[in-house]
Amino acid sequence: MTTELYGIAASDGIAIAKTYRLESPSLLFDKTTIEDPEAEIERLHAALTVSMQELELIKEQAEKQIGPKEAAIFGAHLMVLSDPELIGPITEKIKNDGVNAEFALQEVSDMFMEIFASMDNEYMQERAADIKDVRNRVLAHLLGVKFPNPGLISEKVILLAEDLTPSDTVQFNPEFIQGFVTEIGGRTSHSAILARTLEIPAVVGVKKLMASLEDGTLLIIDGIEGKIIADPSAEIIEEYEQRQKHFAAQKDELASLKDAATVSSDGFEVELGANIGSPKDVASALENGAEAIGLFRTEFLYMGRDSFPTEEQQFEMYSEVLKRMGSKPTVVRTMDIGGDKELSYMDLPKELNPFLGLRAIRLSLNMPDLFRTQLRALIRASVHGNLKIMFPMIATLEEFRQAKRLFIEEQEKLAAEGIAFNDNIEVGIMVEIPSTAVMADVFAKEVDFFSIGTNDLIQYTLAADRMNENVAHLYQPFNPAILRMVKMVIDAAHKEGKWAGMCGEMAGEELAVPILLAMGLDEFSMSATSILKTRSIISKLSKAEIEPHIDAILSLATAEDVKNYVSKI
Ligand code: PEP
Ligand code: MG
Repeated sequence: MTTELYGIAASDGIAIAKTYRLESPSLLFDKTTIEDPEAEIERLHAALTVSMQELELIKEQAEKQIGPKEAAIFGAHLMVLSDPELIGPITEKIKNDGVNAEFALQEVSDMFMEIFASMDNEYMQERAADIKDVRNRVLAHLLGVKFPNPGLISEKVILLAEDLTPSDTVQFNPEFIQGFVTEIGGRTSHSAILARTLEIPAVVGVKKLMASLEDGTLLIIDGIEGKIIADPSAEIIEEYEQRQKHFAAQKDELASLKDAATVSSDGFEVELGANIGSPKDVASALENGAEAIGLFRTEFLYMGRDSFPTEEQQFEMYSEVLKRMGSKPTVVRTMDIGGDKELSYMDLPKELNPFLGLRAIRLSLNMPDLFRTQLRALIRASVHGNLKIMFPMIATLEEFRQAKRLFIEEQEKLAAEGIAFNDNIEVGIMVEIPSTAVMADVFAKEVDFFSIGTNDLIQYTLAADRMNENVAHLYQPFNPAILRMVKMVIDAAHKEGKWAGMCGEMAGEELAVPILLAMGLDEFSMSATSILKTRSIISKLSKAEIEPHIDAILSLATAEDVKNYVSKI
């Protein structure tokens, strides 16, 4: 029977494919006494062999997708699987105690994990996590339950998951992953942003998703309307295939604007940038007509690997982006780790409210060596293009001053070492915390530019978690409180002769664009796939005609009032 479920439209487009559930299986089992230890050992070896074959494939796939360094973790997993010091005691236990393979595996691996975890050495502690991963894979095979491998999918599927972590998503191969649907999340959660970067449709925040759909169900994702249809009839499939064609045709039409400037109908020019998460994304940014990179989320360079990237590795990645962008502005944001962006190899304290905790610039200032490494790599890479640096989550002026001081110190050290760099790098901040928006006039005297991060600014201003679908109604870009702050920030920048951009997803929202244009926003940065549409919208707007409406819009009472008003201009 055809079923429709609704969620939040997270990434445009339509996909039709079978579902693939990404979930951790239950690995519960009973301890049993076995009659034939030799047969049990053989069963263990069979599970070990399949696990190894899978890991070999995943490693190969990851090397192609994300690079050999990042794939090294799977090599470590393979080593665990073939380590006689681990496998020996398991087979001994089956033989001597007459217990089932599951139990022997669990007992022995638990013992090793405990030993490693208690060592005063980070490297060995990480090995405990490797053993656990590998143990679960082998256990799943012993129990005959599916162990999900997002990196191994080799047929066209739509992924279903309760939630997707950034470390799941770095494994995705868009050739096979046609789209995804999650139970948790909002339009600005990182999985949604990634879907837009990969240009695959996604719907997030679909309640009861995992309880409603089985593996292998034929599914349509409508990422434009935020809806999914399970077991569609032939008629519905045909209708959506038509829509798919229409969507592709529209995309082709916009492609003619790729090399055009972004100019309103009355001749006012702005800059349209792309938000990227890795050097790989530059190609799509340029193909989609980006005039700049308005936000390079560098924290993704720290993910999907098993140790911090070195200064040299970072230098290479930043240089690659800068070279490919040439003279086009490239705004690199220093790492925004913490919140939902955790690193498996970093022992961060568990926090009750990670979004209000030690994240982004707070973490960078707390771990200055790590921060200095990133700054050095960036400063050195500045010779290769038009680099601008910005700090995330600035809440106070002291934080900016402290971060800027470290930046200057690293510049001085590099100068003393005789290393070349551009000594005119602009240093700005993200405005994504209300305290900073309110104090924008003071900040504007010291920073070179602002980039308004509405994804976080909205969540902190309305106290509505951007990931939580239960409060999605309070996550209101058009709330006059947000618009007033945006205006304050733009005006404050202009008063000091600085520029103001926006790199939150609001910058690409159809109804927000006229308001932002009329308020004088200088740079709009968004998911690459929204750029051409936004260029087309701006070309049809007259800034001078909208300007007189701004005061009226800012005095409206609710987000609904704003949307109604703007849609009638
Ligand atoms: C923002 O908060 O608006 C932003 C662009 O940063 P991120 O989405 O990475 O938090
Ligand atoms: Mg943010």
